[in-house]
Amino acid sequence: MPIRILEPELVAQIAAGEVVERPASVVKELVENALDAGASRIEVEIEGGGRRRIRVADDGCGIPAAEVPLAFARHATSKLSSSEDLFRVTTLGFRGEALAAIAAVARVTCRTRPPQETLGTELRIEGGKIVEQHPLARPPGTEIIVEDLFFNTPARLKFLKGEGAERRQIDLWISRYALAYPHVHFILRHNGREIFSLPAAREPRYRLAALYGTELAEALLEVAEEEGAVRVRGWISPPGMDRPDRQELVFFVNGRWVQDRMLPAAVLQAYHTLLPGGRYPWAFLWIDVPPEQVDVNVHPAKIEIRFRDPDGIFRVVQRAAHRALRETAPIPVFRSSNLPERPLKVSSLPAWTFPETTSQTPGAESSPSSLPPLRVIGQIQASYIIAEGPDGLYLLDQHAAHERVLYETLSAQRQEGPLPAQPLLQPLLIDVPPEEISLLEENRGLLEDLGFRIEPFGPHTVRLQAVPAILSTEAILPAFQDLLMDLQGSRRPMEETLEGRLIRNICKRAAVKAGQVLNIEQMQHLVRALERCAMPWTCPHGRPTVLRFPLGQLARQFGREE
Ligand code: ADP
Ligand code: MG
Repeated sequence: MPIRILEPELVAQIAAGEVVERPASVVKELVENALDAGASRIEVEIEGGGRRRIRVADDGCGIPAAEVPLAFARHATSKLSSSEDLFRVTTLGFRGEALAAIAAVARVTCRTRPPQETLGTELRIEGGKIVEQHPLARPPGTEIIVEDLFFNTPARLKFLKGEGAERRQIDLWISRYALAYPHVHFILRHNGREIFSLPAAREPRYRLAALYGTELAEALLEVAEEEGAVRVRGWISPPGMDRPDRQELVFFVNGRWVQDRMLPAAVLQAYHTLLPGGRYPWAFLWIDVPPEQVDVNVHPAKIEIRFRDPDGIFRVVQRAAHRALRETAPIPVFRSSNLPERPLKVSSLPAWTFPETTSQTPGAESSPSSLPPLRVIGQIQASYIIAEGPDGLYLLDQHAAHERVLYETLSAQRQEGPLPAQPLLQPLLIDVPPEEISLLEENRGLLEDLGFRIEPFGPHTVRLQAVPAILSTEAILPAFQDLLMDLQGSRRPMEETLEGRLIRNICKRAAVKAGQVLNIEQMQHLVRALERCAMPWTCPHGRPTVLRFPLGQLARQFGREE
């Protein structure tokens, strides 16, 4: 085929493909335009999962009659004027592409009026061609109706999922923006049925409660951190509350929902040792940085961004989450209703429940965030320590608690240098497969820093000369087996460092076991040590160490309520 310049319609369709991938992308762009227009009320109506019809109406600044056709031209925007503006974007839109892209692949009706003009405009445009334009009386604001999406690009239609799946994507976008802009009234309807109507919320936490339910909104910890011109605020979940995926790690950078890899990593690092393996927290964080420090022009749908100083942002976010956890995470409360494994379970999908008339401010119920001085009462099943605190009864898992204490002790010692080693009077000879011998060799330096001295002794035998001093004689072999497992695991890409994993497993083997009888002094010693921990709520593998029975709950269950 000879080289040809493509027809303009085809060019427009190709360009539209980058911006409009599915109905949710249309909804996203229209809602962003409404927010940029300063709307205080945004109404979204969806039919047929967005394929048949999408209507987004706002009460924002409207489009002047003379500019309406221009709004649908490619690269036409009122949000940028010079190339410097591109590096300090303060609006959600700036590429001037969305309306043109949508109009290229659907039938679009736009009705709009700025408050300062007496008459509005109606414009109809199909597959990029204006088919009708006339004046129209209407209230100020803009209404865009998008019908028969991809009617002229049948190949695109084939990539769409079923109505339910497209609808879930739309719901996700709307709920993200509803969360990011709590002072805006959002209404969502599917096939004529109202899914929610969220009036402007006095406080962001009310909006969170409206979207996710009051239980979650009350349980989350508040984050507030400022460093230089960077500000991080929002909420994260306390230890003991977790979910199986990263879906609810949500970040808004300068008001824009972004999908980024670095920001979740910063939050997860703050939760290090506080969550069981494969579990993730909730985080809703607003990150405000000066617009010139973030490049939003790296992705056609503006979902990805680039920070000028990613390491600096990483540190602020990590520190913000860490401080909220350290200073405000409550001791988990024992819940008698469903006796969950973990103190609180919240459904993973937005609840769409709206607190109608709750008088109580979400988050008002307080719970102590550090362990108060406890009086040890005794031991149950040689596994749990029962203790009294000023505000209730406390139950500690002796093994988990001891693991936490040892973990914080060893981590602090490691900051200073190698861990104390204990030479074995009688070195142990252990048979090990040859490939594991080379792993041990490769990591010799690290293992010695942790207290293990291991020498080769023949083709499949090693001699264990010294071990970490905290290991008792019975714990040496199991700890060595863990170590081999950990070294093999290190070949896989992991979030955690090998050293961190090795230390956690040394603590596991060194800690008192369930079933081990402790005398009162030993228990007191353990409880005091846990009280001194920076992160006392979980063992280093993320399981709870302590549960609290609030006095009020005891009184209620014994029918003593005043
Ligand atoms: P961008 O948002 O990147 O500027 P769009 O194609 O989304 O590009 O919109 C083009 C222009 O149309 C915007 O710059 C704005 O001036 C106008 N516009 C679009 N939607 C609205 C709206 N809901 N209210 C007021 N003006 C709008
Ligand atoms: Mg736009």
